[in-house]
Amino acid sequence: MKHGKVILVGAGPGDPGLLTIKGRKALQEAQVVIYDRLVSPEILALVPEDAERINVGKEADHHPVPQDQINELLLQKALEGKYVVRLKGGDPFLFGRGGEELELLSRHGVDFQEIPGITSAIAAPACAGIPVTHRDFCSSVHIITGHQRAGKPLHIHFPALVQTEGTLIFLMGVGSLPGICQGLLEAGMDPDMPAATVERGTRPDQRVTLATVATLPQVASQHQVRSPATIIVGRVCSLSEDFNWFDRLPLKGKTVIVTRPKNRAGTISDRLRAMGARVAEFPCIETRPLPDQEAMDAALAHMEDYSYLVFTSAAGVKTAMEHLFSTGRDVRALGSIRLAAIGPGTDAELRRYGLCADLIPTIHDGAHLGALLCDACPRGRVLILRAQWGSEALTEALTSRGIPFDDVHCYETHYTARQAEEIRALLTPDTIIAFTSASTVRGFVGAMGDVNHLHLRAACIGQQTAAEAQKHGFSTVTASSATIDALIDCIGGM
Ligand code: SAH
Repeated sequence: MKHGKVILVGAGPGDPGLLTIKGRKALQEAQVVIYDRLVSPEILALVPEDAERINVGKEADHHPVPQDQINELLLQKALEGKYVVRLKGGDPFLFGRGGEELELLSRHGVDFQEIPGITSAIAAPACAGIPVTHRDFCSSVHIITGHQRAGKPLHIHFPALVQTEGTLIFLMGVGSLPGICQGLLEAGMDPDMPAATVERGTRPDQRVTLATVATLPQVASQHQVRSPATIIVGRVCSLSEDFNWFDRLPLKGKTVIVTRPKNRAGTISDRLRAMGARVAEFPCIETRPLPDQEAMDAALAHMEDYSYLVFTSAAGVKTAMEHLFSTGRDVRALGSIRLAAIGPGTDAELRRYGLCADLIPTIHDGAHLGALLCDACPRGRVLILRAQWGSEALTEALTSRGIPFDDVHCYETHYTARQAEEIRALLTPDTIIAFTSASTVRGFVGAMGDVNHLHLRAACIGQQTAAEAQKHGFSTVTASSATIDALIDCIGGM
């Protein structure tokens, strides 16, 4: 029988960028993923689509799976021969019961590994501008659970903690915050000792509350501080006012919905997140090569008849190139033909295959591309490789100047509506929806239905995209050029 194994993976504190490289690799190979409540959706999105996902964490409407059942589940899946990832918030061995989960596996001789994670105990303060140690302030740091069993007193040795004069970090302590602060004060801590809570640390909606050990319970209750939160007590908390870099990120507080197809969303989402935005990916279109590529093959067999090959999207370039490769050819099949691209994104895709566009219009739409081609005055035919239902402005421009062309369709765009409900919950007048093509607008509206009454704001990559968004009642801002950089600038200004 094939032996399975269990990898205990630390998912980090919430920001998907804080998952380790090793953790990500394990997730991508997983056949079964057993995860907790505090694991972010962006990290779960890395799990292969065909892997089994089991949520054992507590949700609003059901209780968590008891620990012994989780242990049994891990064992059972491993004995079935599966590659099991047990994904836990922060670091699995820090108040994560990771040790308990390994005991049963160890007794049954199941293979296991632990991939440490970045713990919220250090990362949440870090993102609030609180270094957990600083030579001027302390020489130790202590991590304590504030979890209190119902009806039982807190099991914390306060005098010993106060004597260390170190930074104190309490996890699971929101419910027992008054008891923690009172315990520290009774053990002789200076009432003016700086203290802080960091809720949802490292997440875009992170919130920091600063006070002193004497005032923190009251201030936290006024601010309605909620779990998950890290509580920090120590002089290092006084540094937060100067060091809180996170709240100063340019897009902090903004929610952006990215509508690009899944395989192309990554860069823009990562960059927006790094600038502090809360990003939700809603890939409402998907491009697929047409099943029948006879027309493209016929054109490719006579490249010498053409003087220009025109691409109006990166997806077109990719489809054409992959088709060449899959039929045993490569870019040399294009010969010395001149290339035209609608914009820098399409040109960038060409460059990935060692090609450069000879023509790119300054305004990235079909009409301007058509006009530029007419000026370039091709001597032979023009070959256009693009999606079904491409813009007519391009072909009209060529027709008006009597330039012969073949408009060959090589891929199609599908609208998808997965996760529409989750996205609907984010739609407020403050939310910004980023559209990178008119078809993403159509896909969005197709999934959401009529959105006119919601007064949504859209950041659009170009005029055509903005015109489509305006039809559906969006108030739009258009990027100064059709590039992701300009679109991100445009979001920053909204
Ligand atoms: N193993 C985890 C801790 C599990 S105990 C780790 O290493 O981070 C759960 C507690 O962790 C929560 O009650 C809270 O105190 C803390 N926590 C987890 N995620 C957090 C976050 N994003 N921000 C602040 N505190 C967090």
